[in-house]
Amino acid sequence: MTLMRPPLLNPLFASLTSLPGIGPRLEKLYARLLDREAPRVIDLLFHLPSGTIDRRARPKLRDVQPGQVVTVAVTIDKHRPSPPHRSRAPYRVYASDETSDITLTFFNARKDYLEKLLPESELRYVSGTAEFYDGMLQMVHPDRVVDETGFAALPLVEPVYPLTEGLALGNVRRAMDGALASLARVTGLPEWQDEAWISRERFLTFAESLRHLHRPAEPHDIAPESLAWTRLAFDELLAGQLALALVRAHLRRQAGRGSASEGRLRARILKALPYALTHSQQRAVDDIITDLARPQRMLRLLQGDVGSGKTVVALIAAAAVIEAGRQAAFMAPTEILARQHLKTIAPLAKAAGIRVAILTGRERGPARKEILDRLTLGDIDLLLGTHALFQEDVAFHDLALAVVDEQHRFGVHQRLALMQKGEAVDVLVLTATPIPRTLVLTYFGDMDVSELREKPAGRQPIDTRTIPLSRLEEVEDAVGRALAAGNRAYWVCPLVEESEKTDLAAAEARFEELRNKFRSNVDLVHGRMKGADKDAAMARFAAGETQLLVATTAIEVGVDVPEATVMVVEHAERFGLAQLHQLRGRIGRGAGHSTCLLLYKTPLGETAKARLATLRETEDGFRIAEEDLKLRGEGDLLGTRQSGLPGFRVVRLEVHGKYLGAARDDAALVLARDPTLKTPRGQALRHLLYLFGKDEAIKLIRAG
Ligand code: ADP
Ligand code: MG
Repeated sequence: MTLMRPPLLNPLFASLTSLPGIGPRLEKLYARLLDREAPRVIDLLFHLPSGTIDRRARPKLRDVQPGQVVTVAVTIDKHRPSPPHRSRAPYRVYASDETSDITLTFFNARKDYLEKLLPESELRYVSGTAEFYDGMLQMVHPDRVVDETGFAALPLVEPVYPLTEGLALGNVRRAMDGALASLARVTGLPEWQDEAWISRERFLTFAESLRHLHRPAEPHDIAPESLAWTRLAFDELLAGQLALALVRAHLRRQAGRGSASEGRLRARILKALPYALTHSQQRAVDDIITDLARPQRMLRLLQGDVGSGKTVVALIAAAAVIEAGRQAAFMAPTEILARQHLKTIAPLAKAAGIRVAILTGRERGPARKEILDRLTLGDIDLLLGTHALFQEDVAFHDLALAVVDEQHRFGVHQRLALMQKGEAVDVLVLTATPIPRTLVLTYFGDMDVSELREKPAGRQPIDTRTIPLSRLEEVEDAVGRALAAGNRAYWVCPLVEESEKTDLAAAEARFEELRNKFRSNVDLVHGRMKGADKDAAMARFAAGETQLLVATTAIEVGVDVPEATVMVVEHAERFGLAQLHQLRGRIGRGAGHSTCLLLYKTPLGETAKARLATLRETEDGFRIAEEDLKLRGEGDLLGTRQSGLPGFRVVRLEVHGKYLGAARDDAALVLARDPTLKTPRGQALRHLLYLFGKDEAIKLIRAG
């Protein structure tokens, strides 16, 4: 069994700083661009172009469209330097061809440099973005200026890359040259795809495909539909499916232990509930109890819209293994949620005689030690918590069931880490964002699925309206009336990482304004607050001490205050569909009539318009999820960035999703024939797993 990365791949896994011209300063910028610490050559190679500059067509000035990146051949007519006493004024260079004129504009430019670059009455090839300014065609800081010889040396079609502040196109291109040189040093890379299929589809090799994308001959060479991109996408899908299949095979081998129960604890919980389970909750409970009693390991996804009542189903599952004398863990993505689960679960657990504790980053020192000791002794039946649950020193007496809430916030590694804490742990994953089937397969592999499709009885439909921000005052008045009538309301302001400072200021300003307007009774929670302060504010709102809670999306997931009946979302156009659906799910949880007001800034883009229309039309989370996939593409359906979901590098699901089934079948076939990946193709596939960062799965292959 080879656990070491094939040495052949070393040049691709070298640090980016091994490339010429990249030092620690640029490395930091690339870390941001590529969204990973200590980026490596392979990470840069997977940074594919977003467009091209096509120098073959050189439009005459008369035909240049503003806003386009173009290359024009012009004669330099005259320099007009910034006046000496006004150095802030731009330096302009007038140029022309036989059809029209153009102004080349430079700020803070050095005169001698520009005179050399653009000598009067000579011909120059200039590329950049042309715009109209004062009725005149102009180009500010051209990307390139070259003479005839220089132009002859330029590639006619050149890729354009997504950039980040501080990194110019030229930097990325030079770095990519270096990365391609490293790729060229990797010789003898074996083909891991089925040879017959490769030749039938006329695919290139992995390395050739990368080269084609970074050195396109035609603009359409870099389309996601191109042969080169499709090949890489299939590689990534296959790597993903193979890794999932290996994980699953590994889990199946550890046979699992049945946790049979008569349902004593369950009966006590049901008796303590102030309501009856819905049909779909009942069905999910039956599925889970059956799974748990069997000697095979359970891998089940419980999908249910916000407010569909997943928590109680999870508790009943825990009760079954606890009755069999074993333990359960319940992991939530945030501190607030973990504590909220504790609050919901504690009284029911008490009625059933289940011993519950919580472990998060906030439990420290002796308190933490006491919990860990009791856990090891088996004196805790159910441990709730956050990521803290899979820290190394957390040891269970006999963990039988791991419940993972809001799974998409955790990676596969974290899920595995929790499962390693017991012997053949059964796994129940709860997702509040209903996920289309294709994505279930992609991210979770072949899990069994239970769905909670109905809402608990007594819920009323939510009245959803979209309103331009210009009518803010009317909305405030309406909220004021609702508060005066004794209702509770959320007021959500956006907060995104990229504009965190101004967003936070805007949320605080809105809070001040609403507090002055409504006098007292208003509170603010945001993601930058300390956990304890956030919880305290949430608790005051839940208890009715505050009636209006101004919040950033910190309240997004799972918060449960049935008395809240109004939700205002400011700048709804800046939120994703799933996110808005989640937010709206905070209301309409009690018996009262609820209203959701989505305030948007005009003008609305097409996608934002479609998003808001979908929300007005439906509350069905499954439909919304499908719609979301259509509108956004896979890119960040689950909010990849916020969620920490290991996203795709080259796959664009809306384009390549159709190959998912084939990749899955191929993975299954490979493992059926060669479960330890030791045939030549199996060995080749190990390379693939490394290249796409799925090599964790290789460790799961049983020796022999
Ligand atoms: P989610 O699926 O979003 O996690 P929760 O488990 O938080 O939903 O449940 C939302 C609310 O619905 C809770 O207040 C819970 O007590 C209540 N609830 C759950 N099941 C039912 C039911 N069958 N009938 C009435 N209320 C229910
Ligand atoms: Mg929940």
